[in-house]
Amino acid sequence: MRGAMKPSIVHCLKLLMLLALGGVTMHVPDEDDVVASLGALRLDGHFSFDDAHAAARDFGNRCSLLPAAVLHPGSVSDVAATVRRVFQLGRSSPLTVAARGHGHSLLGQSQAAGGIVVKMESLAAAAARAVRVHGGASPHVDAPGGELWINVLHETLKHGLAPRSWTDYLHLTVGGTLSNAGVSGQAFRHGPQVSNVNQLEIVTGRGEVVTCSHEVNSDLFYAALGGLGQFGIITRARIALEPAPKMVRWIRVLYSDFETFTEDQEKLIASEKTFDYIEGFVIINRTGILNNWRTSFKPQDPVQASQFQSDGRVLYCLELTMNFNHDEADIMEQVS
Ligand SMILES: Cc1cc2nc3c(=O)[nH]c(=O)nc-3n(C[C@H](O)[C@H](O)[C@H](O)COP(=O)(O)OP(=O)(O)OC[C@H]3O[C@@H](n4cnc5c(N)ncnc54)[C@H](O)[C@@H]3O)c2cc1C
Repeated sequence: MRGAMKPSIVHCLKLLMLLALGGVTMHVPDEDDVVASLGALRLDGHFSFDDAHAAARDFGNRCSLLPAAVLHPGSVSDVAATVRRVFQLGRSSPLTVAARGHGHSLLGQSQAAGGIVVKMESLAAAAARAVRVHGGASPHVDAPGGELWINVLHETLKHGLAPRSWTDYLHLTVGGTLSNAGVSGQAFRHGPQVSNVNQLEIVTGRGEVVTCSHEVNSDLFYAALGGLGQFGIITRARIALEPAPKMVRWIRVLYSDFETFTEDQEKLIASEKTFDYIEGFVIINRTGILNNWRTSFKPQDPVQASQFQSDGRVLYCLELTMNFNHDEADIMEQVS
């Protein structure tokens, strides 16, 4: 048997030269070929190449990463087929995929440099992916990942129901906020939005469509919730509902002292009988913001009587609401 060949000094020098000159080549598919091969996929929706600039923008306006293509999925299988194709290209492929909800990220999280942006709102618009509300003992809604929360609310309200946990601003998508956390004034009671999901349908990084929940595929379920789209693309979410409040008393309380503000907030959150929504925030009264809030205050409140010297100062605000039924209208003032 012949012994293993020992590398000569010349071989070693050649290897060093190759490494130094960057001569180790990997097979990287040409971007045009990749885009052409994506174009060959049979889809219910379509790829577009002329709206890449729109997909390279987000709310933060600080990052602009131009994708090679934008997928407007017409079905979940479009998303799966595209991700599967990219997965099959292997690790050497430069192509990345990013789901884009309403693009309200601040730092390019929903962008893909030279890759594929999946416009999830197109999937929400596909007729087969409508918002479906289920009543009964454990009411819930099945919503497409690309659906705006405002549309989910409109649908559930038709059944007298509403999600338990919210963001303040509702023109964000279901998949977008569930990939973060989804926080607002109900979180102290119900947890953030990610704690109010019963089930998800996800397209994994291999392009498989998987249903997951606390009981089934729980690793994937908990990774995707708050996972910034890194563990799969949420194509549907089953969200817990509760009876929608009939009437709401809404109060804003202004503070100039931080300690008093946080003490009050903690006290209210810890109380057993308390408000249904409690949120604290910090503002600078730079733009006459308090004047826009005048409906929140009564004429005798100090902010209206100009006793509250606040221009340009940092202020703290507690926003509170309490829910009532129609027959409780006369006790609203007293209770709150
Ligand atoms: C004006 C404004 C108000 C806001 N108010 C609140 C608030 O009250 N409470 C709060 O918690 N947050 C708030 N946010 C933050 C907001 O929740 C996040 O920026 C959220 O990601 C935006 O949702 P989007 O649909 O625009 O997602 P995008 O910005 O499009 O995407 C966000 C991230 O999620 C990923 N993603 C998007 N869709 C999916 C999907 N279907 N599956 C998997 N991953 C996906 C993206 O790849 C990206 O990483 C606010 C933001 C703005 C700009």
